[in-house]
Amino acid sequence: MQRILSSWFIQGMVKATSDMWLKGWDERNGGNISLRIDAEDIEPWRDELVKAPRVVELSQPARDLAGCWFLVTGSGKFFRNVQFDPADSLALLQITEDGMAYHIHWGLVNGGLPTSELASHLQSHAVRKAVSGGLDRVIMHCHATNLIALSYVLPLDVPTFTRKLWEGSTECLVVFPDGIGIVPWMVPGTDGIGSATAEQMRAHSLVLWPHHGIFGTGPTLDEAFGLIDTAEKASEILVKVYAMGGMKQTITTAELIALGERFGVTPLASALKD
Ligand code: 13P
Ligand code: ZN
Repeated sequence: MQRILSSWFIQGMVKATSDMWLKGWDERNGGNISLRIDAEDIEPWRDELVKAPRVVELSQPARDLAGCWFLVTGSGKFFRNVQFDPADSLALLQITEDGMAYHIHWGLVNGGLPTSELASHLQSHAVRKAVSGGLDRVIMHCHATNLIALSYVLPLDVPTFTRKLWEGSTECLVVFPDGIGIVPWMVPGTDGIGSATAEQMRAHSLVLWPHHGIFGTGPTLDEAFGLIDTAEKASEILVKVYAMGGMKQTITTAELIALGERFGVTPLASALKD
């Protein structure tokens, strides 16, 4: 058995994918995760990396991420199976120094490629690395049921969707004061949806793909998971509320402002209008 399987990053990815499967967010091969790892964290496992890494060209250069290491889920891999064979389902890759390609240094032992959403992941990483001063390391995508359901019913604009989620549960404004970004419906697995998602990631840590799923970011796998879990829980409550005939009362604007003040966060101003 390879020692690298006990590394914090592979263990973390196994836990995240298993938890997400159990949440019902990742049917079949639905969902994908990428985790940016420091080169020092790879050092202890150097002798277990492949001797002649496969090189894959990027469809779009990732110059801001030159030399960066990522652990990502493989395309077509089932989250429920990652725990049983991480070396089959995951890929440890490093972006080349010119940002035009990547090397697969470990994983995907039975062949295959990293997630088909790699463009969205890498472009979002470039943006979040810059806006968070290097803190954000995770991009997480899944098919969270109730967020998708709401995308059929709520207006697809950032202030309205954000406001409804904040009203869906008191913790929401504190957990994602920057609101939820939204892209139009677009064909997944393309550079285009990658650019649109990354653009929203400049201002929001959550980005909704209507009728498809959600993207979340954060410094750790736990934080990204917790962020999506919080928004999805509020969505579940909203779905029940709308199914019961709609809100009869809710958290008011003044109460949301007081909440932000108490917890020292600055809520997205456009979602605080009456
Ligand atoms: P991958 O299996 O290629 O990661 O695709 C799953 C998915 O959710 C596409 O949006
Ligand atoms: Zn998807």
